[in-house]
Amino acid sequence: MARNKMLRFTTLEQEYPTKRPAEMRREDFDEIYTAFEPEKAADQASRCEQCGIPFCQIHCPLGNNIPDWLMLTASGRLEEAYAVSSATNNMPEICGRICPQDRLCEGSCVLEQSRHRAVTIGSVEKYITDTAWAEGWVKPVVPDAENGLSVGIIGGGPAGMAAAEQLRGKGYAVHVYDRHDRIGGLLIYGIPGFKLEKYVVERRVKLLQDAGVVFHPNTDVGKDISFADLRARHDAVLVATGVYKARQLTCPGAGLTGVHKALTYLTASNRVGMGDSVPAYESGELNAAGKNVVVIGGGDTAMDCVRTAIRQGAKAVRCVYRRDRENMPGSQREVANAVEEGVEFVWMAAPEALLGDADHKVTAVRAIKMHLGVADSSGRQSPQPIEGSQFTMDADLVIEALGFEPEDLPVYFNEPELAVTRWGTVKTDHKTLMTSIPGVFAAGDIMRGASLVVWAVKDGRDAAERIHQYVTAKAAADKSAPALAQAS
Ligand SMILES: Cc1cc2nc3c(=O)[nH]c(=O)nc-3n(C[C@H](O)[C@H](O)[C@H](O)COP(=O)(O)OP(=O)(O)OC[C@H]3O[C@@H](n4cnc5c(N)ncnc54)[C@H](O)[C@@H]3O)c2cc1C
Ligand code: SF4
Repeated sequence: MARNKMLRFTTLEQEYPTKRPAEMRREDFDEIYTAFEPEKAADQASRCEQCGIPFCQIHCPLGNNIPDWLMLTASGRLEEAYAVSSATNNMPEICGRICPQDRLCEGSCVLEQSRHRAVTIGSVEKYITDTAWAEGWVKPVVPDAENGLSVGIIGGGPAGMAAAEQLRGKGYAVHVYDRHDRIGGLLIYGIPGFKLEKYVVERRVKLLQDAGVVFHPNTDVGKDISFADLRARHDAVLVATGVYKARQLTCPGAGLTGVHKALTYLTASNRVGMGDSVPAYESGELNAAGKNVVVIGGGDTAMDCVRTAIRQGAKAVRCVYRRDRENMPGSQREVANAVEEGVEFVWMAAPEALLGDADHKVTAVRAIKMHLGVADSSGRQSPQPIEGSQFTMDADLVIEALGFEPEDLPVYFNEPELAVTRWGTVKTDHKTLMTSIPGVFAAGDIMRGASLVVWAVKDGRDAAERIHQYVTAKAAADKSAPALAQAS
């Protein structure tokens, strides 16, 4: 392959991999972007300015060495690019697919700031690692020697998976316990295939298995095995359980039939996509086909619900959000994709009541228009209802996508000593990442609140490092204790 010079942003336009036409995307759950052609990936990487202070790297939660792997890709040195990229990230092809790059690396790219439009960092990252998989460069992290110590990880989402790989590489016996039948957390059961096809996650899980990580699926810690038992089994425990308590509507009619939580709906759809039999989908309860669907919320979860409903063949899909497009928490890129696929957005509106028929089944959403009032303590303008502006939308399926909170873990684990914040997230020491219980650490959404995959990976890696420091220091202290006792 030709070796590209860098700084080609003055002559080359920004180009993302081809997006499949919306009419085609509506018909299946496959990813919407096709792969980069090798020449195209090298060209796009060569647009990088190689700046002295790489803001892309600073604003990547993992501190990925982006300028270096762009330069290596532009030069056709893909195996080296993969080595650099995978040195800081346990799942670069996953982050490349689903990070909201417009808010992270690409949004901070100096080219974006100077109106030349960002380097397509995420797409190149995906290209590098997909190529590495195809070429057989991705290898299980098998340690040189076992260190005789073990760590139990509760939760097989991205935080748990990243920690597992890091710890296994250091020679720990690593056991991951998950209440689900499949490993992957929200990568498997939350995020739909059109953003992240499942084989991409499954091959990562297999890689960990090949490295010797032991998975215990269908094991709900707190129910199937006690937290105390787990602590007794391992030298350290990592809590990486994510956040799963869905916020729910409180307006009249919220309990009607046909009103569902976002994750219930998405999990059913993901299961069907993986070939599972899901009675609530087969009965039509969790299937949007032929229905008027209203999704309430404006985050990534809401975007995934509306786009899933489109693919299931809904009659109409509306997304109701109480702020405007600029102020919604979801990625702008995902909103644009949803619009292309036929979703109607009802901005600046909030549900006032859900209306039902004699059988207690939802038939409509009565909403009220909002305007943005004065900013609250967080600096965001708070939405205020406009009196007399009520309107009604037909609805046979209403999906609540209002965000998630942590479960009450001290109660669930029967461990009152486990300190939590006022939001219910597990408290950790900011330096050691240890919780209030010695030898118990926390990472990912359960520690920082509902967030992003890239942050979960970062937390998992950091926790693995701190666990290693703690366990090795403790093992050394335990070893020297008898000697000290003898000497004194
Ligand atoms: C619908 C949806 C779409 C999203 N889209 C994006 C996106 O596009 N980009 C992005 O970056 N982020 C996205 N996110 C956020 C992202 O998925 C999370 O931030 C990330 O998965 C958190 O990782 P985690 O490992 O902390 O938790 P999780 O992925 O939630 O994994 C936690 C695991 O712990 C297990 N578990 C929980 N309790 C127990 C227990 N008691 N015993 C055993 N196992 C237990 C669960 O079964 C689960 O497998 C999305 C989230 C949702 C809900
Ligand atoms: S991990 Fe996410 S933020 Fe970091 S470079 Fe990749 S796409 Fe950008």
